[in-house]
Formats: sequence, structure tokens, C-alpha cells
Amino acid sequence: MPSKFWSPLVHQLEPYIPGEQPQVAGLIKLNTNENPYPPSPRVAELLDRAAIDDLRLYPDPSNTRLKKALVSYFEIEANQICLGNGSDEILAFAFQGLLKQGKPVLFPDITYGFYTVYCSLFGIEYQRQALAEDFSIDFNAYTTTPDNGGVIFPNPNAPTGVGKTLNEIEGFLKRNTESVVIIDEAYVDFGSESAISLVNHYPNLLVVQTLSKSRSLAGSRIGFAVGSAGLIEALERIKNCFNPYSVDRLTELAATVAIEDVDYFQECCNNIIATREWTVAELSQLGFDILPSKANFIMVKPNGLSAKALFDQLRERKIIVRYFSKPRIEKYLRISIGTVEEMKALVAAIKSILSDC
Ligand SMILES: *Cc1c(COP(=O)(O)O)cnc(C)c1O
Repeated sequence: MPSKFWSPLVHQLEPYIPGEQPQVAGLIKLNTNENPYPPSPRVAELLDRAAIDDLRLYPDPSNTRLKKALVSYFEIEANQICLGNGSDEILAFAFQGLLKQGKPVLFPDITYGFYTVYCSLFGIEYQRQALAEDFSIDFNAYTTTPDNGGVIFPNPNAPTGVGKTLNEIEGFLKRNTESVVIIDEAYVDFGSESAISLVNHYPNLLVVQTLSKSRSLAGSRIGFAVGSAGLIEALERIKNCFNPYSVDRLTELAATVAIEDVDYFQECCNNIIATREWTVAELSQLGFDILPSKANFIMVKPNGLSAKALFDQLRERKIIVRYFSKPRIEKYLRISIGTVEEMKALVAAIKSILSDC
């Protein structure tokens, strides 16, 4: 209920609505792109009595240990990394520190919902560029507005799952050199190439990643940006004016081992990719149209009943997926890739719903 004590800003805000986290036992939860596998088993080994006793101390504000793991994994310098409480926080630093330029920021018309939310929170102008007919990002639409305040897009895009190749991204970077380009790589580990290899060639490129999806740490809240030292310093300045301790001690420990345990990480990603391809093949056989996904989710258009009807009927069967009642994607459902067993249960439920219609 609005209160007379609200600031004018609060009246205007339309907050981001996260996918639901129902507290119901026995649900098959395929609505928020979480990893169906637990984090690296080494995480549990580390969270011992000593780690708990250390909670009396503030975290290391430089998160030296975690940065060291990222430096050796990505072969970059420590001053090219900024860590945050989830990549959502990193994006908040970037919108304030790099994208608030008094010119419109460009991003796709169908994309991650937080971008418009941050623009309204931080008073940033924006302009949405239409995706191509096949739901891919059309970079030509961006180069026609060279005087922009920056460009941001996820690769692969969310909620479509459609990706751009590293070549296409580099081609765009060559044409957009005068403003910051932020690539949100929340889902890059499920089959796309990271643009981190380009940061030393393009001083205006910032790559944002998270440990929420491919490293199973959504509950721990840890994300990071990689870019030129100049861009990273802007983020660090914002962070140190807001909350220098945004990465807590337990999270830093968990994230460090999750980055170091490369074998476990690759195994989980490979499993999810294989399960995605299995699910795509099954649903194609049932007549679904499916966008080509490089993510840990798929966008599918059912045939014979509406997306909303299928969403409701799956829910009755305790399977939760995501429905967006938005133009162009209202005929689709977004389904996160779970375990093989969960996806088998999903396909069986869909077969039974279709045979009832
Ligand atoms: C999930 C997601 C994020 C946020 O990740 P957190 O690190 O959990 O805050 C950012 N961008 C996109 C496109 C996402 O889907």
C-alpha cells in the first residue's frame, strides 16, 4: 500500500519479479534455470568448524582467494575482475558506473527483465532493439544508433536461449568502439564461447558471469565481471561506495572451490547439454516448435493447445515451468533443464496432457 513517506522514485518503480520458489514438497521445478545437480562435493568439505568460527571476522574485501582462482582459470589479471553478490549486483554496478551516460542504452526487446528495472531505478534512458524474425540478436539494429550510451545483451540471450558466435560478437565490437558493450554470459557454459578471450583487445568490453547456473551456487549469490582494468575500476568504485563486503566469507570459500573443481563443473555442464538435446528431440516428436538453445533451458511452442493451458496443466501435475505473457513469446514456455529423470517425467506428463485434449 503506497505511503506518503515514499520518495517520488519509489512510486515510479516496477520491481523485477523473480520466478517463484514454491515451498511444496515433491515438485519438479523447471522454472528458474537452476542447476539440478548440487555444487562441487568439495564445497561441503570446506564448510567446517573453522570456516564457521571465522564468520566473526569481516570478509576479505578484495576476496583475494577467489580472485586468484579466477585469474588462473581465465588467464587474466586480478585488476580485471570485480566480484559481486550475484551477477545482478555486478549489473547494478555496471549500469551506474558505465551505462549512465545521458544517452540511450541499447538492448534487445526480448531479454533479461532486470535491464529495464535497473534503467528505471538509476534513471537511465534506454531503447529496445527488435530481435530478428528467428529470435536472434540483429547487430545491425545496434550500429544504426552509433551515439548510444552503451549496449547490453545476454549471450546466449534469455529467455530465448539463442546465441551469437564469438566471430559475430567480435564483428560487432569492431563496429561499436565508442561506448561500453556488456555481455551477460549467465548461460555461456552450456555450449557458447565466452568473450572473455576478447577483453584484452577491446577496452570497452565488459563480460559478466555468474556461479548461479553452471556452478550450482544460485543460493550463495556470487557473480563477477571481467574487463579492462579501467572498466573494472569503475565497478569497484561503485561497489566501495555501497557495500565493500558484498561477497561473504562462506560464499567466497564455496565459489573458490567451485571454480577450482573444473572436472566436476564440466561433467555437470555436459550432462545438462545431453539432457537438453534429449528433451528437444522428444518434444520435437510431439510437434513442438523449439528455439535452438545454447542454455540450460529451452523455449518451446506447443502444438494443439496454448502455452498457458499447458503451463496450467503441468502445474496441476506438480511440474513448474515459466510462462511469459509478453508479445512475441506468449505462445512459448520456458523450460529449465533438470535431471534426466525430471525431464522424463516432464515428457510423460506432456504426452498424457496431449492425449487428453
Ligand atoms: C540468472 C541470470 C542472471 C543473474 O544471476 P545471479 O548471478 O544469480 O544474480 C543475470 N543475467 C541473466 C540473463 C540471468 O538469466
